[in-house]
Amino acid sequence: VRVAELTRPFFPAKGTMGNDEHPARILILGGGFVGLYTALGLEKRLSPRQARLTLVNPESFMAYQPFLPEAASGNIEPRHVVVPLRTVLRRTSLITGSAIALDHDRRVVTITPVQGDPYGVSYDVIVIALGSVSRVLPIPGLVDSAVGFKTVAEAIFLRNRVLESMDAAESTEDASVRRRALTFVFVGGGYAGVEALAELEDLARDASRRYSRVERADMRWMLVEAAPMILPEMAPDMGPYAVRILRERDIDVRLSTTLESAERGRLRLSDGEEFEADTLVWTAGVRPHPLVSELGLPIDERGRLMADRYLRVVGVEGVWAAGDAAAVPDATTGEHSPPTAQHALRQARRLAGNIAATLNGESLTEFRYKSMGGIASLGRYKGIARVFTIRIKGFVAWWLHRNYHVLMIPTFNRKIRIMLDWTVGLFFRRDVVQLGSLQHPRQAFEEAAGVTGEPSR
Ligand SMILES: Cc1cc2nc3c(=O)[nH]c(=O)nc-3n(C[C@H](O)[C@H](O)[C@H](O)COP(=O)(O)OP(=O)(O)OC[C@H]3O[C@@H](n4cnc5c(N)ncnc54)[C@H](O)[C@@H]3O)c2cc1C
Repeated sequence: VRVAELTRPFFPAKGTMGNDEHPARILILGGGFVGLYTALGLEKRLSPRQARLTLVNPESFMAYQPFLPEAASGNIEPRHVVVPLRTVLRRTSLITGSAIALDHDRRVVTITPVQGDPYGVSYDVIVIALGSVSRVLPIPGLVDSAVGFKTVAEAIFLRNRVLESMDAAESTEDASVRRRALTFVFVGGGYAGVEALAELEDLARDASRRYSRVERADMRWMLVEAAPMILPEMAPDMGPYAVRILRERDIDVRLSTTLESAERGRLRLSDGEEFEADTLVWTAGVRPHPLVSELGLPIDERGRLMADRYLRVVGVEGVWAAGDAAAVPDATTGEHSPPTAQHALRQARRLAGNIAATLNGESLTEFRYKSMGGIASLGRYKGIARVFTIRIKGFVAWWLHRNYHVLMIPTFNRKIRIMLDWTVGLFFRRDVVQLGSLQHPRQAFEEAAGVTGEPSR
């Protein structure tokens, strides 16, 4: 592996970097909530002479995940829920690629760029902000049949899939094909699953008005949850309210039920029911990014990097961690922070402050954050919120959800574009066009050349 950026053979001795002669080389792995806000915080707190900042992310944007459900339903243009890192970060170099290995003794990270061979990047200080991935269980057929809901690509895919399935049902006489195409199953009743289901059901309900042979009553929307209640993060009475709202919309909510098998699109539930479904969405939790457990750094029983209350990785000098990939003790609660954007953002700000304090020879501040509560949208005009101890349901909660996230998404540009998307949505009917063919851009060309194209689904 070629080592780039190795401007000096060894990292400087403690207390001698972060100055004119030796600007500290700070490398951030991951450009999500933690990566972006850490870089922004360091840009603000450290001068270019003190630090050279580099961020590695597989894509050139940060995805604002809380808006993915609205991107899937088309309320917001998908491009508007991502924040372009090159625009927001003024003096952080961006490497578009993936970290694949870490040698902390030599202080070198191996990166696979989007194209070309892997190479090494050396650093003095590293921030590990790799986030989480879907927690996939060993259920027969799951990997082949299901899609997760963590990325912009998955959100766009699901929007196209729902509309494509309605097109398929409209255009066939085969009752079993229709039934299978119009069955949409979500497994996992946390924020992501409930919000994605509610938004996509809204989309399908609206879209069905444009079809002559597909009505809402022909569709089957189902939420399968292993626990006796959904949205456990909210106050105890909020879950039952959410279940009632979903059931009123004819969504089949199965509590204390698990998915047992999903082979060849045939689903079997633990209550014994079996049926076929073309669309299976897996939102049953997340786990830390798998690379985290391969870095040779201390991890806890859940695979999270063990951080101390200053966000340093326990017992390893020069390594910091936060967000979904880290177990961060919160001095306010005495517990580890949950994997939410709300916490990731505050941790990142604290982490940037503490790195700057280290380089400036100042004392560190422990991470403390009193959660503001939680907000979830249940589709158009319905939501639930807990703001500190106050519980809010219905329209006001939905309105709070929108306003909170539009305030939180970085950049004025994105706030305005999202508000314009919502404003357009008030005056025009929902756009129900599906561009599923975007997933197979070479198909037409290959067919024109007489080569068999990729299957369209
Ligand atoms: C659908 C959905 C809705 C949500 N809604 C809410 C909500 O309403 N409120 C809330 O508080 N939280 C919400 N969350 C949770 C929140 O988004 C996460 O807790 C937050 O994104 C965690 O931040 P992070 O920086 O740790 O990880 P991420 O934001 O996931 O960032 C990790 C980054 O690391 C990058 N990466 C991955 N592999 C590599 C690699 N090998 N090398 C370099 N980079 C890599 C990824 O591409 C990504 O950019 C939601 C999550 C989802 C999926």
